[in-house]
Amino acid sequence: MELPAEKLEDIKALMALFEEPGSLDGGGVTRLGYGPAEDRMHEIFRDWGEANGFIAYTDAVGNSYLENDAATAAAGEGQSAVLVGSHLDSVVRGGRYDGVAGVAAGMACLKWLREESREFPLRVAAFRCEESSAFGRSTLGSGLITGAIDGDDAADFTDPEGRTLREVFAERGLDLHPQKIEGVSAYFELHIEQGKVLETLGKDVGVVEAIAGPRRFRIVIDGEADHSGATPMDMRSDALCAAAELILAVEKIGQSEGRFRSVATVGIIKNYPNVMNVIPGWVELGVDTRGIMPGSFGRMEQRIRIAAEDIAKERGVEITIARQYEDLPRSMAPQLMDELEQSARSLGAQSHRMMSGAGHDALSFADLVPTAMLFIPCRGGISHNSNEFTSDEAICTGAMVLCDALARHSTGART
Ligand SMILES: [Zn+2]
Repeated sequence: MELPAEKLEDIKALMALFEEPGSLDGGGVTRLGYGPAEDRMHEIFRDWGEANGFIAYTDAVGNSYLENDAATAAAGEGQSAVLVGSHLDSVVRGGRYDGVAGVAAGMACLKWLREESREFPLRVAAFRCEESSAFGRSTLGSGLITGAIDGDDAADFTDPEGRTLREVFAERGLDLHPQKIEGVSAYFELHIEQGKVLETLGKDVGVVEAIAGPRRFRIVIDGEADHSGATPMDMRSDALCAAAELILAVEKIGQSEGRFRSVATVGIIKNYPNVMNVIPGWVELGVDTRGIMPGSFGRMEQRIRIAAEDIAKERGVEITIARQYEDLPRSMAPQLMDELEQSARSLGAQSHRMMSGAGHDALSFADLVPTAMLFIPCRGGISHNSNEFTSDEAICTGAMVLCDALARHSTGART
């Protein structure tokens, strides 16, 4: 797809604006939610908006917004606007594109639509604290204002220094119980894919059909810690060996459910006492299963439980499985998916329908308004890492498809 030089320059300039906050030696950034680097990112966002003649404001939980004159006029008449959003925080030692690309794309849409005299009511949001690195829970900013997260539940979440969200909000004059966001007719989010599907298939953009919900388990394996020299091999209850079998079983279960686009991962292992001359007596595993089909979730859980029972019996250990957290998968709005696809086609961009394995701010909106997500490829599928990279060309392509789809949506919605 041909990219107009001036649009590509806009994207380069927007991405460069956000370069510095939280930059680390050796590449990458750390911009934890409700921390100083994220504050600076939001200031840059609002300053750019004001300098370019858009209205900038923040809400009661610290999310920042820009809106065009058409959105302000619409709000005055009780009409709604299309909302484009993403986030400006990062994980520890994260990349420069996760979240930022989506916010920059929204800013570019505001600018391009005005330049082309195609303005319709449009708001662009930068949400706070999308990553769980700061308070152990993702999508806090968007979750609190949509009601997807309850302020009472969130109040006791703590940051790495042990401060609760309640304390941080009190210090900043923010409100854990904000007014629910209003005046939004549809929500669009552009985001880097964080996987390698688009790159592998050579596609320009991904139209997300559904965002996978995670179902997570804490598994504890109780064996017996004994002397590693004095205990014969046939008299052991080695919790770590049992864990090894269970980890491979989880992988196999994930693989066999892959045809339903489910995945299963053991991401955490804690081994006790974790010393050289003691047979491991106690192991904890953290298991993350994700998918978009409830049936597949159920099967994965059942098969993990059966595998655990078999391994426990075979190895003389005790295995307990507790469900820790669950969020339901969310479907994206078919009409918005069509609009994104039509826009991609009309601009000559190759699109691909896919699911999102990762959660995003779009999850917070999916129960509230028609919601859509557009993915752009990222190099090697790498994210949450200082090596994360997406070209300005890829962001520009995505932003142009997004901009066209927004225009298509609001024209369609008006007629
Ligand atoms: Zn993100």
